[in-house]
Amino acid sequence: MKICPYCSNEIVDNAKMCTHCGMRLKENIKESKQETKQKTNDEEIKTPQDMLYETLGFEKIGPLNKKIALLLAIPLGIFGIHKLYERKYIMFVLYLCTLGLFGVGVVIDVLNLLNKSDKYYVYKQRL
Ligand SMILES: [Zn+2]
Repeated sequence: MKICPYCSNEIVDNAKMCTHCGMRLKENIKESKQETKQKTNDEEIKTPQDMLYETLGFEKIGPLNKKIALLLAIPLGIFGIHKLYERKYIMFVLYLCTLGLFGVGVVIDVLNLLNKSDKYYVYKQRL
């Protein structure tokens, strides 16, 4: 048995329509499936690459939001604010002192960010 999302009455698991309120349930099931998929994507799955990085003393940071990083990098990149967001503190100080490696670093970072997926991870050397 499951619960109808519209009227909260109990209905059979494979019902396409609620027997109590008559609402169609098919679309709703689809939605919840998508949610589950999203959740699995968010979960941290260790890839062989991750393990290699870990062995080499790198720390996996994330998931980070591409849009936030871009919004930080485009107006404030020369001050290294997006590096702060990625928790790359040494790079942040370096960007701050050199104004984003004289702007070149910021341009490269923005181009790199555009190629990343909406949620991305970065690797940082453990201190
Ligand atoms: Zn119902």
